Amino acid sequence: MIEWSETHRQIREMFRRFVEAEIVPHIDAYEHEGRPPYDVLRKMMKTFGAGEMALAEFRRELERERARRERGEAAAERGPRTSFSQEAADRAALRAIPIVELARHSPGMITALGVSVGLTAGAIQRRGTIAQQERFVPPLLTMEKIGAWAITEPGSGSDAFGAMKSTARRDGDGYVLNGQKTFITNGPYADTIVFICKLDDGVTPPEQRKVLSFVLDGETPGLVRSKPLRKMGLHASPTGELFLDGVRVGRDRLLGESEDAEARGDAKVTFGAERTGVVAMALGIVERCLELCTDYARTRVQFGRPIGEFQLVQLKLARMQVARMNIQNLLFRQIELAGWGRSMDLAEASACKLYCAQAAMEVCLEAVQLFGGNGYMAEYRVEQLCRDAKVLQIYGGTDEIQVSQIARALLWPEGRAS
Ligand SMILES: Cc1cc2nc3c(=O)[nH]c(=O)nc-3n(C[C@H](O)[C@H](O)[C@H](O)COP(=O)(O)OP(=O)(O)OC[C@H]3O[C@@H](n4cnc5c(N)ncnc54)[C@H](O)[C@@H]3O)c2cc1C
Repeated sequence: MIEWSETHRQIREMFRRFVEAEIVPHIDAYEHEGRPPYDVLRKMMKTFGAGEMALAEFRRELERERARRERGEAAAERGPRTSFSQEAADRAALRAIPIVELARHSPGMITALGVSVGLTAGAIQRRGTIAQQERFVPPLLTMEKIGAWAITEPGSGSDAFGAMKSTARRDGDGYVLNGQKTFITNGPYADTIVFICKLDDGVTPPEQRKVLSFVLDGETPGLVRSKPLRKMGLHASPTGELFLDGVRVGRDRLLGESEDAEARGDAKVTFGAERTGVVAMALGIVERCLELCTDYARTRVQFGRPIGEFQLVQLKLARMQVARMNIQNLLFRQIELAGWGRSMDLAEASACKLYCAQAAMEVCLEAVQLFGGNGYMAEYRVEQLCRDAKVLQIYGGTDEIQVSQIARALLWPEGRAS
C-alpha cells in the first residue's frame, strides 16, 4: 500500500467531520472538566455502525468456533495467505482510520475506546469459553458496557509477571481474589474488568505460579474502583486504581474455565496489539501538529516576515514531514501485512512503537517551540497534544522495554533459555 484509496479518504473525511462536530467543540470539557468520553464514543460507534459490524463479525467467528468444537477439532492456526486479500487489508484500514482521526484531537478518547473494545473484548474473545464470549463480549463491542484490562500493579509494571502480587486462591468450586492494580484505563467506570493475577496454591513459589485471567463486574462485592487519577495528559481517558479484597467468584469467571488456560502468552498478544495501535495514534498526532504548524508559520509575522521564511522554522516543518511520512509508511505496512494474513512479530511491533512514540514526542515538542509563547498556552492545542503524546513512550511497554525486545530478537533470534 502506498496511499490511502479513494474509499479510505472518504471514510476518513466522514470520521473527521464527526470528530470536528461532536468532540472538538466540547474538547475542554473532556480535557479540563473531567467529562467521561463514553457517551460520545457510543454515539460515534452508532453513527458509523461500527458496533453492529463488529457484532456481526464476532457472531460469524463464534459460529465457526462452535462448529469446530462440535467436530472436536482444535482451533486452527491461521497461517499467512497465499494471495493478497483486499478485503482483509480494507478491514485493517477501517480499524486504523478512527484511531488516526480521533488522535488528531484527543489521543485520550482513542485510548479509552481501544482499551475497552480492543484489549478487554479481545482478551475475552481469545481466551474465553463460548459461553463466556457470548455473555461478556457483545456489550463491549457496542460500548453499551465499558471494559478495562488490568495487569499493572504498584510494584509491577515493566516486569509485569515477575513482580505480580495479585492472587487467586481456590475456594470450593470457585476462587477468592486479592490484589491491587494501578494506572488502569477506564478503571473508574469499567463495567467489565479483565483481572490478571497468579494462582496461589499455597505450595508453588510466586515466580513459578500460573498466571490466570478473570472477568469481573465493576460492581462485584470486595472490588473498589478509585476516582480518576490526576495526570499529565490524556485527560479524556479516565485512569484509576482497583482494590480487590476477598472477591469471591465462581469458576465461570475464570477465562477459559480452566487453570491450564495460562494467561502469560495472551497478555503478550495484548502487548503486541497495543504496540501496533500506537502507530496510528502517532500518525494522527503528527499530522495535526504539522497542519497547525504550517498554518502558523504562514501567518505569524516577526521581523516583518512570516516566520515560515526563517530557515530554522523550515527545518522544524521539514523534520515533521519526514516523521509523518515514515509513520504513515509503517501504518501502510501494517495494513498491507493484514491483506496477506500476517501481522508484525513482537520485535517488529516494538521497533514500530519505539520509533513512532519518539517521533510523535519530538514533533510535539518542536510544535510547541514553533508556536513560541502561544505554544505554551492551552488555546493553541499543541500543548495538549504534547502532554498526550508522552504517554506513547510509557504505556504498552516503555521505550526502554521496546529497546530490549528489539535487541533480544537481534541477539538471540531463537530465544534464550533464561
Ligand atoms: C495513562 C496510562 C494508562 C495506562 N493504562 C493501563 C491499562 O489500561 N492497564 C494496565 O494494566 N496498565 C496500564 N498502564 C500501565 C503501563 O503499562 C505501565 O505504566 C508501563 O508498562 C510502565 O510500567 P511502570 O509504570 O511500572 O514503570 P517501571 O516498570 O517501574 O519503569 C520505570 C523506569 O524504569 C525503566 N525500566 C524498567 N525495567 C527496565 C529494564 N529491564 N531495562 C531498562 N529500563 C527499565 C522503564 O523504562 C522506566 O523508564 C497505563 C499507564 C499509563 C501512564
